[in-house]
This record gives sequence, structure tokens and C-alpha cells, in this order.
Amino acid sequence: MSRARLIGSLKYRNFRYAQNHPLRIPRVSLLLEFLRALSLIEEEELVESRPATPEEILLFHSRDYLEALREADRSGRVPPGARERFNIGSYENPVSPATFRGSLLATGSSVQAVELFLEGFAPFNPAGGMHHAFRDRANGFCFINDPVIALEVLRSRGFKRILYIDLDAHHCDGVQSAYYETDEVFTFSLHQSPDFSFPFRSGFLHERGRGKGEGYTLNVPLPPGVTDDEFLLLLEGTLPRIVEFFDPEVYVVQLGTDALLEDPLSRLYLSNRGLLEAFRLVREILGEGIYLGGGGYNPVALVRAWTLIWCEISGREPPRRITPEAEGVLRSVGWENPREEVDEEPLYRTLQDSWRGSGVRDEIRKLAVELKALLSN
Ligand code: ZN
Repeated sequence: MSRARLIGSLKYRNFRYAQNHPLRIPRVSLLLEFLRALSLIEEEELVESRPATPEEILLFHSRDYLEALREADRSGRVPPGARERFNIGSYENPVSPATFRGSLLATGSSVQAVELFLEGFAPFNPAGGMHHAFRDRANGFCFINDPVIALEVLRSRGFKRILYIDLDAHHCDGVQSAYYETDEVFTFSLHQSPDFSFPFRSGFLHERGRGKGEGYTLNVPLPPGVTDDEFLLLLEGTLPRIVEFFDPEVYVVQLGTDALLEDPLSRLYLSNRGLLEAFRLVREILGEGIYLGGGGYNPVALVRAWTLIWCEISGREPPRRITPEAEGVLRSVGWENPREEVDEEPLYRTLQDSWRGSGVRDEIRKLAVELKALLSN
């Protein structure tokens, strides 16, 4: 049996976001059902998620903010002043069962992932990766920053050189701000350029950290339409240099699937094979790490991609075809992509996309040269 562990729960079904929110879709529960339908997981490999404790939340978030989340959950309403003070209750970060209970479960799971890793397992928490939340402010659909809490648990266990890698389509502003002035966590993110994408205000090339943290942040802002070839070229050009410079003792990687072409909220063109190759490259260079989910707003594309990731971690050969039973699991969502130009039909029949990319654009080569210069300083 593999050392891989998937931390998940069907309870997420009860912790859905508000109506019309992009994250109202099923994700973790759908992944579990899909993996079971394809016989790609053994019961021993599945670890039931547990909620984070207040002490764990307070490793990063303020007590006032935690109280506001708790009060929103208790009353089902936006507490007085919470929208202005904590950004809770906006269209982006609405009050719903996901706000507190869902976030607690996702965060507890990231702590479980750290603990399992330290016991020698290869843990994947697909509910994790809520990288936008700030210390006392909800942001970008995220209320509790589980990556930061996972990193804080690692620090509390004595780790001094921790690499955080973020492959989500969006910049990890909450994580970067938490570690901007320290040399103990290196924050490395590839994402859509803030020139045209959320979070707009951060994720630029020139942000390299401050004070003791100077040189311990690297952002790779991507133009629209980045393909597998281009993404891999940029990752191959940067990650080995970061590892050489920083010599990490441990790493956490956020594996959002919103860089996939089929995602309705992003404009990158990755295939799930491209994302898988990026993940393989990370593991090839760094060995086993702690694996978190992230963004991803097309549930069908997301489940296919994380199935490939799970097969990679657990050493399984992914099946070529999706069985009728597993197809039924995907179709049960009734997902319709608002991007009408995307042909969804092939997603229901095969697991792997074909490779996307036929050459690398000049602007990407130019970016690769700039990154190389930055990293050799
Ligand atoms: Zn994202």
C-alpha cells in the first residue's frame, strides 16, 4: 500500500458557499466520489478531515477576526461592522456555512497534512490552499489562510527554511504578506499578472521581500494564454535556482486548478497534463512534500486534474478512459461552463487532456531571462 494519504470528507457538502458564488460547486466530495468510482483509492489511504482548533487559527489570525467569523456562523448574518473591518459579508466573501465551518475543516486538514508528512506519509489536502486570506481580513473567497497555518505549524516544530510554492492562477497575496520580512519561508508563486487579474495589487516581479526577507519572495507574473510549454519553461528556469539558493528543509505546494484552460475565471491555457508535469518537476527536484489544493471553478476539470495528482502521489497509473459510473458522478453536478467556447464533452470521457503548447512566445522568453537575472544576483 502507498504512503499517500488524502485528507477529505463528505461533510464539505454541507458547507457550501452562498447562491451564485463561484465556489458553490462541489469539489472535495466530488473528488472522493470520482476516485471511488474509478477504484483509485483504498479506505486506508483516506483520512477524515477534522476542524482546526482556535489555537491553530490564532497561529496566524487575530482573535477579533476569529470572533467575527464565529459570530457570522452563529447568526448566519454579517456581524455589525464586519464588512468594513474584516471584509466578511461582501459578494466575494459571503456569509454561508463555508465561511467558518468549511474553513475550519479545510484548515484542520492542512494541519493534519503537516502531521502526516512528519510521520512519513505523502499527504494531499484538496480542500486547502486558501492563500488569499489576511491576518484579520477575508479576501478572494478565503476566510482562513490554511497554508500559513500549515507553515506556522512547521515553524513551531523547528523548521527554519521552508519553501512555499504556489501554482494557482492567482497570486498568493495572503501568504506573501505573512512572510514578506522573514528569511525562514521562501514564497514562490507563478500566476496571472496582477496587471489584469486578481488580486491586482500584488504579485509583481519587483516584489522580492523586505528587510531580513529581502530575496526570499519570487513572483512570476504570467500574461494571458500561457500554455504547458511556457509554464514548464518558466518553472524549470526558476525552481532549481531557488532550491540552490535557499536549500529548503521542507516544502508546501499549492495546486489550484484554475490555470487550466477550462476554468471560467482565468485566462491561462494549461492542460491537466501540464499541471501534472509541473507537479512532477517539483517532486523530482524536492522529493516528497505537503500538497494542498487551491482555486478551481470548473468542478469537472478540477476533479480530473486532482485525480491525476492523486495517482502521481499514490503511484498509480491513471486510467485512460472514464468509466460510465465515474462519468455519471461528473454529470451529476450538472455543470455548465459560462465560457461557451470551451467544449466540455471530452472532459467526461477521458482523464488526461492533450498537451497544450506549440512553441514559446517571445514575451515568455524575455520573462525567463529577467527571472534568471533576478535569481543570479
Ligand atoms: Zn486562484
